[in-house]
Amino acid sequence: MGCGTNTGLQDRYGRQISYVRLSLTDRCDMRCRYCMAEQMEFLPRSEILSLEEIARLAEAFVARGVRRIRLTGGEPLVRRGATDVARQIGRLIGHGLDELAITTNGASLAKHADDLWDAGIRRINVSLDTLDANRFAKITRIGRLDTVLEGLEAARARGFLIKINMVALKSLNDDEYSDMLAWCMSQGFDLSFIETMPLGHIDEDRTDRFYPLTAVRETLEQSFNLLPSTHRTGGPARYCSVEGSQTRVGFISPLTANFCASCNRVRVSASGKLYMCLGHEDHVDLRGALRGDDPSLFDKLLDQAIGAKPERHDFNLGFAATQRHMSVTGG
Ligand code: SAM
Ligand code: SF4
Repeated sequence: MGCGTNTGLQDRYGRQISYVRLSLTDRCDMRCRYCMAEQMEFLPRSEILSLEEIARLAEAFVARGVRRIRLTGGEPLVRRGATDVARQIGRLIGHGLDELAITTNGASLAKHADDLWDAGIRRINVSLDTLDANRFAKITRIGRLDTVLEGLEAARARGFLIKINMVALKSLNDDEYSDMLAWCMSQGFDLSFIETMPLGHIDEDRTDRFYPLTAVRETLEQSFNLLPSTHRTGGPARYCSVEGSQTRVGFISPLTANFCASCNRVRVSASGKLYMCLGHEDHVDLRGALRGDDPSLFDKLLDQAIGAKPERHDFNLGFAATQRHMSVTGG
């Protein structure tokens, strides 16, 4: 995009922004109860960026030093043309972009695994909060476990590196953490545990479902020898390796262990809003810059946004930190 300064993106706390999450849609074919309300209102289609605009956005970020992009949502694979835009962005790999990845609920991964591979994606995060079909139906309200397991099998067979994301949920999956880790080890998957975050209105009180990862870890340590790992992604997870396996276990604890000091990322919603922090409403609207005829506007807005990136989030479970759901920016 135009005549930007082409300098990197560093915020006022010295953090280098090298990672962008791009939401392809806020819609989803599931309604996970910690993520969404059952009756969700989604963005009108007229507000959503076109695939061509999303690809241009990716290009513009890479021109400003972004090295990793993750496609997310909502559910990115429900957007028609998702794999086409992945292919377009994938062409940037080796030309400034080091990695293109995707986070998905896995339900249509079986259909899309080959196209995602051809686009240059090699790593996939799949959300899976339980291995029990009835519980899966309860947690996701409308999802089916077998479709996700099929998707995972297709992705594994294709050769993707796979990480499972499991949200720790009191009384919904708090007896399954060791079983999930054993299963991930048997499949060759990594596993990250996530604490529920207070984002957007859902139909329940999140405090009732909160389960601290300190407790998850204590449970795991009864059956596995977790070794400290130096593996870092610049992201929120703290990793361990499991003795006797290749599997890494990550802990994403926004409530019990703040990770903001090393935050290297920003997020763009499907309508082109750039959010500098998951826990704040502040954003800059990039859609106008994408649609307007001033080629320098995008870089100006980007500099303004990065300059205003908050130092940290301050989640308090009892209150929604934002009106916005996680599904707007994809985690
Ligand atoms: N639909 C895709 C999926 O589920 O992987 C991508 C988007 S989803 C919003 C990204 C991640 O955010 C998932 O791993 C999901 O479990 C997690 N997530 C959603 N709402 C959350 C919340 N309120 N607190 C913590 N994690 C949440
Ligand atoms: Fe959809 Fe992902 Fe949210 Fe579940 S967590 S409702 S799959 S966006």
